[in-house]
Formats: sequence, C-alpha cells, structure tokens
Amino acid sequence: MSASPIRIALQGVGKIARDQHFPAIAANPDFALTATVSRHPAGLDDIPHFSDLEALIAHGPAVDAIALCTPPQVRYALAARAIEAGLHVFLEKPPGATLSEVIALQGLAEAAGVTLFASWHSRYAAGVEPARQWLAERRIEHVSIIWREDVRVWHPGQDWIWQPGGLGVFDPGINALSILTQILPNPVFLKDATLQFPENRAAPIAADLRLSDTLGTPIHMDLDWRQTGPQSWDIIVETDAGTVHLAKGGAVLSLPKGTVESPDVEYPGLYARFAELVRDGRSDVDTAPLCIVADSFLRGQRVQVEAFED
Ligand code: NAP
Repeated sequence: MSASPIRIALQGVGKIARDQHFPAIAANPDFALTATVSRHPAGLDDIPHFSDLEALIAHGPAVDAIALCTPPQVRYALAARAIEAGLHVFLEKPPGATLSEVIALQGLAEAAGVTLFASWHSRYAAGVEPARQWLAERRIEHVSIIWREDVRVWHPGQDWIWQPGGLGVFDPGINALSILTQILPNPVFLKDATLQFPENRAAPIAADLRLSDTLGTPIHMDLDWRQTGPQSWDIIVETDAGTVHLAKGGAVLSLPKGTVESPDVEYPGLYARFAELVRDGRSDVDTAPLCIVADSFLRGQRVQVEAFED
C-alpha cells in the first residue's frame, strides 16, 4: 500500500464537478487532481486539461483514477475505456443509463483488477447512518417519501436530463431511493407506479410510486418537478417507537428524542470512501436504487401531461 496521493482526473466539468468534486478533492490529501477532461475549455488554472478521454490517455500525465461527472448516457463508454486503461473509476450517480451496462462495468473492473465505485452521494448525508442504526432495532410501519423540487431552479438548461436515459424527475428521485435502500433493513421493491410525461419530453416530470419491503411495509413516494415555493426532500418513517424524519435530503434527522442538523458532508464522505476502496483493492457497486427506477419505467403506467418549457 502506497502512501502517495491517488492521481485523479475528472471528466465532465459541469455543475456538480465545480460545486462538489473539485472542493472535495482539494480538501482530501489522499488525492491529487492531475487532469481535467471536458469538451469545452472548462478546466482549472494550473491543471492540464484535455478535450476527451483518448487525449488524456495518449498525451496526459499519468493518472491512477478518474471521476466521471458527465450525464449518465455517456458514462458506460467512458468508464469501459478508463477501466481498459487501468484506471480506478468513480461514477457519479446514477452509475449508468441502464442496469445492464452497470453490471457489465462491474465485470470489466473485476477482470482488470481496478476499483469501480458507483457513488450515491445522498447516502453520505449526515442523518442517514444514524437513521439506519436507529431503524435497525424498530418495527417499521409505513414510509413516506416526498421529493418535490422546482426543475427550473435546479436543472436549468440541462437538456440531457429530459432525454432517454436522463431519468427526468428520477434524477433527483434516485437520491431518495439511495437513502431508502440504505436505511431500511430489508430489501425494497416496486409494486406499481404512475409516471407523468410532458407531451414534448422523453422523461417524466412527476411520478407516484407504491413500494413495499419484504415484510410488507407500505412505502409511498411522491416525486414532482413542478414544485414552486418551499422545496421538499423528506423521508418520514413511522415505527413502533415513534417517527423518524429525514429532511433536506438527509442532512436533518429528527428522532423521537430530538432533531440534529449537520453541515454538508456528502462529497468529503464519498472521496474518503473512494480512497479506502482504491487502497483496499475493492469495488462498491450497489444497483438497488437504479433497479427501482428501471422497474418504474418497466412497470409504471404512463400518463401524458401538458408540455414543459424551460
Ligand atoms: P451538467 O452541469 O450538465 O454537467 C455535465 C458535464 O458533462 C457538462 O459540463 C459537459 O461538459 C459534460 N458532458 C455533457 N454531455 C457530454 C457528452 N455527451 N460527452 C462527454 N461529456 C459530456 O450536469 P451536472 O448537474 O453536473 O450532472 C452531472 C451528473 O452528476 C449527473 O449524472 C447528475 O445526476 C449528477 N449529479 C448532479 C448534481 C447536481 O446538483 N447538479 C448533484 C449530484 C449528482 P463538456 O460539455 O465540457 O464536456
């Protein structure tokens, strides 16, 4: 095991790269940001920048790993090429545009002996692990997820999100599912769903899901991108010992004994985990959240609603 920093490249210099990845990498001594890759000249001062992955591999400085922060539709091809080049790969969520390609990537990474990390940032929100521990000892009676945000505020001009594979309202909704599948002690599955597609879009703007766990616990999910005013990223779990409420995407945890709000620790937690996986020679690929989204498209009823203009 080497103590030298993991030399990491980042591809897809967009909103999440700038808001979260660059600060988290800079703050973690286990990593050295060594290159950026983006089709536009969107790099950082003093960091070598390449217009595509082939250019990085052919002409760039040596790197050990790459973080892929592009839209999911192009993630498989980039990850497969990076694995072929011997790089450890950090996948932004969702880990791919299809389940089968993520499973294929797992096999490629294993065969190449590199780490594949399918990251789920919401699982690293401060309230999630204490909620998981508290729920492990209780009987869960009902779960309600309310994930309602204004797409014009959070995803302005992101055309990819409305295209096939972009997931539409499931792009944020999969974050709730990543928390749900982490905090409940038993597997969760979809029973039925209704998906609302604007007549001019290929992805849903709202969805209503009925789920269950293997004990038969009813779980309801209300997802909507047309929310103006107060936004909701809430998960409410009723138990035999009182109510657990995760608010603000998992940052605020209310248990019967009180409420704790913590600062944002998601991306520092993700990079700490990625460093640990690389050092230990392991991968972490949990497809459970993507599985529920895929099932919603597979099983859900589709309803057409009025056109949506950005
Ligand atoms: P974004 O602002 O649209 O940035 C994505 C970047 O990927 C773009 O800047 C673009 O850079 C690159 N890209 C786009 N199409 C590409 C293509 N066909 N081939 C190669 N590169 C391409 O999107 P984002 O909000 O950062 O989201 C990116 C991923 O992070 C998504 O999977 C999203 O779910 C996830 N995420 C986003 C947030 C958030 O708050 N925004 C939070 C957590 C996770 P170039 O055009 O310069 O190549």
